[in-house]
Amino acid sequence: MKKRIGVLGLQGDFALHRRSLLRSGCEAPIIRYPEELDSCDALVLPGGESTTFVKLLHKSGLFEAIRTFSRSRPLMGTCAGLITLARQVSDGSVEGLDLIDIEVQRNGYGRQVDSFIARVEIPVLSGRSGFEGVFIRAPRILSLGPGVSDLGRCNDDVVMAANERVLVMTFHPEVTSDIRIHRYFADTYVS
Ligand code: GLN
Repeated sequence: MKKRIGVLGLQGDFALHRRSLLRSGCEAPIIRYPEELDSCDALVLPGGESTTFVKLLHKSGLFEAIRTFSRSRPLMGTCAGLITLARQVSDGSVEGLDLIDIEVQRNGYGRQVDSFIARVEIPVLSGRSGFEGVFIRAPRILSLGPGVSDLGRCNDDVVMAANERVLVMTFHPEVTSDIRIHRYFADTYVS
């Protein structure tokens, strides 16, 4: 049976995640209401604007529903999705889901270099470890708590991390045609 990985569709670039998941051989319903989570094996939180995400998550009832979902099923978050999943945001501007013990700084690479492309090293990926990292007003991971592993680096920064059930990255794998990260999530985290 195909794995069914929902993509949170409240805001942001959910359509590109859907495309990558479909290309990885998964079903990828767009999720806007709590009851739509029931049939999903996992959930992806896309990039966008984290303050807006948190507001809309509360409004839709998805905030509590995702926390409950996370007790038994895996989540993946990119960029604003990572911020929304983090334990702590350094300036206190976002009170997120607290599902992975990392501290992050929003827009952590400064204004001039708001967006850039750089090579990320991800040893767990099949084939080669290099991945084209597209960073768009990206957050910076400041620290990892116990139980969180460093899975990918760009220069000296950790840009991809995970605990048992939550995989996050500060860049946007969905805007490239390389589906190895979506595939890795589906193969390794989703049963
Ligand atoms: N800067 C955005 C935020 O703080 C994240 C940007 C993105 O998702 N591309 O929420």
